This record gives sequence, C-alpha cells and structure tokens, in this order.
Amino acid sequence: MQISLKKALQQIKYFQGDYRKCDSPKRMIDHMYKHIAETHSDIDYILWTGDLPPHDIWNQTKEENLKVLKETVKQMAEVFPGIPIFPALGNHESAPVNSFPPPYVQQVDSSIAWLYDALAEEWQKWLPPSVSYTIKRGAFYSVLVRPGFRIISINMNYCNNKNWWLLLNSTDPATQLQWIIYELQSAEFSNEKVHIIGHIPPGHADCLKIWSRNYYKIVQRYESTITAQFFGHTHFDEFEVFYDSNDVSRPTNIAYIGPSVTPYYDLNPGYRIYYIDGDHDATTRLVIDHETWIMNLKEANLYDFPIYYKLYSTRAAYNLKALRPSDWDELINSMTDDQDKFDLYYKHYWKASPVRPACDADCRKRILCDAKSGRSHDRKYFCAEVESKLDSSNGSWRSWIYRGISFSNKTMSNNTAYQLLTNEVGDP
Ligand SMILES: [Zn+2]
Repeated sequence: MQISLKKALQQIKYFQGDYRKCDSPKRMIDHMYKHIAETHSDIDYILWTGDLPPHDIWNQTKEENLKVLKETVKQMAEVFPGIPIFPALGNHESAPVNSFPPPYVQQVDSSIAWLYDALAEEWQKWLPPSVSYTIKRGAFYSVLVRPGFRIISINMNYCNNKNWWLLLNSTDPATQLQWIIYELQSAEFSNEKVHIIGHIPPGHADCLKIWSRNYYKIVQRYESTITAQFFGHTHFDEFEVFYDSNDVSRPTNIAYIGPSVTPYYDLNPGYRIYYIDGDHDATTRLVIDHETWIMNLKEANLYDFPIYYKLYSTRAAYNLKALRPSDWDELINSMTDDQDKFDLYYKHYWKASPVRPACDADCRKRILCDAKSGRSHDRKYFCAEVESKLDSSNGSWRSWIYRGISFSNKTMSNNTAYQLLTNEVGDP
C-alpha cells in the first residue's frame, strides 16, 4: 500500500514529464495540441517531422508502433480539423528501431510493407491519392500545396547509418535521390518553389557520408527552386546552412531543425511557428521569420499547470534583416566573435532548459560547426575558418573560465518534432 502511494505521488509530481530520460506523457501532448489550436488559429498547415514512438525501443513491437501511428493521426485530425498536415517518417516508427529494408527486400518476414502500407493509408487523410505509390514504395512523396508551391517529403532512413539494411547496398536506396531529381526538375520546368521535409538532418553524423554528398549536390543544383528545408531528430532548436561546394563563402540553402515536443532529455517541450512568404506573384516561399514556443517543465510540475510561451522570435532575437541563407551564415560568423550572442543561441538551442550543461570552448565549436555542416562527416572543409577563429581566441580569460566550469557534452537522441507553419505575405 505504501509503495503504490509513493508511486502515485511521483506521478503527480511529474505529471507534465521529466527532464530525465522520459518521453512526453499523453496529458502533456494533449495540452500542447490544445494550446496550439487555441493560440495559433491562423495556421495554414502543419509539418510533422517524424518519430512518434517513445525511447523504450527494447519493448516495442510492430503492432504497438502501428497503434501509436494510428492514434497520433486520429488525434491530430481531431485537434486540427481542416488543417492540412504533411508528415515525414522518423527513424523510430519501425520495429526494430532504425530498421528500414529497401523495396527489393520482399520476404514476408523482412519486408517493410507492414509500415509503408499503413503510412499510405493513414497519411491519405491529408494527401492526394496520387502519392500512394511512392509512399508504399519508399515512404516519400511530392505534393503540390498551392499553384507554384510544392512540398517534397523524403525518407531519411535511406541515409540513416544505423539502418543496417543499407550494408546490402547503400547506392541510392529505393532510388529516392533519383526520384528527388526528377521531382525538382519538373518543379523547375513549372516555375514552382519547393520545401523539403524529412527527419534526420542531412548534415548530421547519423546521415551516411556518400548519401549526404549526393543530396548536397542536388540541393546546390536546384538552389533557386528549394527555398527551405525542415528536419527534426536532434530535439534541439538549431539549423544547418548549405554552401557552394566549390566556394565555401557562398551560402546556397538553409535547413531548419525544429525543437522536439518531448523533453527527452534535459529539455523543455517546444514547437516552432514559421512565417512564410505567401501568395503573391513574385513569392519566394522563403521563411520570413520563425518563433520557438516552449513550456517550462520545472514550473509546470511545480504549479501543477503547464504554461506555453514564446521563447523568442528569430529576427528580433539575433537582429537579422531576413532569413536568407546568407543571413544565417552571417549569424554563425557573428556568434564566432560575440560570446553574448552565442550564449543567447545556446539558451534557445536548449529551449531555455534550466538543467542545460555549461558550454565550453569545444562545445561552442561543435555547435557552430554543426550549423555550418549541411553535408555530413565533412567538418574540415566547411568549418575550418570558424575553428581557427575560435582556436585563436581560446587563450582569452573568458574561454579559460568557460573551460573551468564546463560539464560533459550531451549526445543527440530522437523523438517527436512538430513544426507549424503559417503563410503571410510580406517582404523576405
Ligand atoms: Zn529521430
């Protein structure tokens, strides 16, 4: 009796979640969705960047993961009626985790058809029937959102280096890259602007080097067509800039990495609102501004009530004129020189978590180099200048103090990230 009472009290204390290695309780997700629906009634569409199941991967089954998928789709449709939702596949949706056989693996015991067929059926709620073929084949699709504006959702598990099926053959699994080129070329012919959505950011260490190099080339070739990319997976609030492969001083593209809903781990729960150049003749479909909203988990548990608030608006926080790739590149450069600006970015990166670790010189270098790296496993090329600048300033009294009080750096992990968008006509 005493044990169950203690357990009950613990549940009450952490009723909105916990900073330790725990995912989002259902009641926290319910409350966040309700808050979003009430606060942002002008949302035009939602980007869902994948990873629905929690992190108890040793407990998971195909049946359980399908149940999580179906219940999430049902809940999203109920809370956001009439709002289109564009999903992308995470690395946690499969069972076992990270296991995504390419389409030529067709044996009943091994095939991924159990998941992709279910995705085609569930996602159909928001997508046209024409995308069913590519979802069933590889869990990717292309959809015309409005005349002149297309969203391409890609399956980043075919660059996931923990997807051991790729050891069989990692050359363009499911011919996805070839398909992306075809879609982008058609978009270019039709004068469309394209947003790419996916789960694992292409510059992340979890993305296979060769796949990432090929993808990078494609993004550069179609830099006038692709005006933004959106990913999740890291749980942090961050971004990756793409550069000209032959001229590292010329930024070509930007990938936004949205904050996770889950507090896993040491994080506050959060979500993003993007403002996009909207419907007018010369629209660029560039992101004009974005906001990150969070809930302070510590206070929510303390007062038994979650309060969401806007943590920051990007252009105002960093004093940026616009959010073109060149503006993001300038922000990285300024954070290399300006410790206070970096500290602000670092606070946002952790969604203002009160339990975030201190950031020493190596941590600062790692975070800024992450932002320079839209191509994985290639730091030496893209980050040499930032590294040498930071190394030369490491002898300062300030970096000495930072090193003195630092804690060990965290590694990345996975889970749900939802990103919400609203269209707004305005100057980029
Ligand atoms: Zn993930």
